[in-house]
Amino acid sequence: MLTGKRIRLLPTSEQETLFRKSAGAARWAYNHYIDMQKETYTRYVASGGKRREIHPRGRDTSTYHPRFENPRAINGSAKWAATSSNRPSRTPTGAMRGFFTKNRFFPSSKSRKRSKPSFYVNYESLRRMNGGFRGERIGFVRTSEPLPKLRDGEHYLNPHISFDGKYWYLSFAYDNHIIPPRTQKNGVSVGVDLGVKELAVCHGTDGTDTTMRNINKTRKARNLERRLRRQQRKAARQRAHNIDHYQTITGKDGKPARKPVWTRPLEECRNLNKTNRRIRLTQRKLDGLRDNHIHQMTAMLTKTKPARIVIEDLNVSGMMKNRHLADSIAKERFFEIRRQLEYKCRREGVRLTVADRFYPSSKTCSNCGNVRGKLTLRERTYKCEQCGLRIDRDLNAAINLAEYVPAAIGELKPAERYGKRK
Ligand SMILES: [Zn+2]
Repeated sequence: MLTGKRIRLLPTSEQETLFRKSAGAARWAYNHYIDMQKETYTRYVASGGKRREIHPRGRDTSTYHPRFENPRAINGSAKWAATSSNRPSRTPTGAMRGFFTKNRFFPSSKSRKRSKPSFYVNYESLRRMNGGFRGERIGFVRTSEPLPKLRDGEHYLNPHISFDGKYWYLSFAYDNHIIPPRTQKNGVSVGVDLGVKELAVCHGTDGTDTTMRNINKTRKARNLERRLRRQQRKAARQRAHNIDHYQTITGKDGKPARKPVWTRPLEECRNLNKTNRRIRLTQRKLDGLRDNHIHQMTAMLTKTKPARIVIEDLNVSGMMKNRHLADSIAKERFFEIRRQLEYKCRREGVRLTVADRFYPSSKTCSNCGNVRGKLTLRERTYKCEQCGLRIDRDLNAAINLAEYVPAAIGELKPAERYGKRK
């Protein structure tokens, strides 16, 4: 089974400098490619075409797909540029493909300040060593744990080195030769209701109920968020102190805009840079806290090896449009939960069922099957009008999900499909 792995590196300070330069070269190459794509795309659209592919078949591509120049040729013969730019167009090509085939936005450029520094390492020459690994043009790098052993002729796939604001990591995929167990035919079905109040309320058909709390409502997360806000205010204040006067420029929309002129160049403001560094570290801590929490939750769900796990098909982007919910949903990272459930279920031999988007898991009574017309988010207790059942709203939804039976597709319209259950 193909598995991803991320290992912390223990680089020397010279290596760290090399990493930083390589990440810079990779970013440059990425942006250069995106710029070229933008130019050719604009030209093509202007000429009346509507390009849906990066390399249109059966046509002369040279006119609107210029050759990618290696930055080594442009930037001089810097040794470090070669580390990361010998395969510069793979990531941006993926981004362009997303734009053409998946209706994503046109890929944006990577920013020196905001983007995560990362670069590719040649996979063919990457070797596992005692206490670390050897990479092309990087040399021997110490790691905090050994790389997994590979069989003869195998490689670590798509290795990248990246920086998370505190440490450097090597990440890659490899085959661990573990064959995932077959899914059980009979057994427990677990319904998982993801929510804003609690992260997840789970119900198993064997009668076990579990609740995973929402980490963002704990004291630890709240304290960190408060610390982050305080530091961000501080940075804003320090930046404001450095403004000499404003300059009027033409903004992106063509209207006049104000641009501050700094008293001192920003990179010389050591106290501001110190604050910015602290902001990044706090943000990193918060991310780690949330990340760890959902990993624990998805592991807990799959480790008991039920026959099946049922989750809702959450319309996350639709929910993000609700401004009262957007922030808390973004922090809970529902999409990431689903991604983790998908691969962990595969690993443990659990079937993952995603309930139909129109399946009324919250509106249905888990006792008699009556479907209520309306249920507001404020109603925390489900009260059945027919059998008089009073039950926690999220638990009710979890029970319904655990007993979910996929309807035959094409028989009825979604609205009609789930009427009264018998
Ligand atoms: Zn009822």
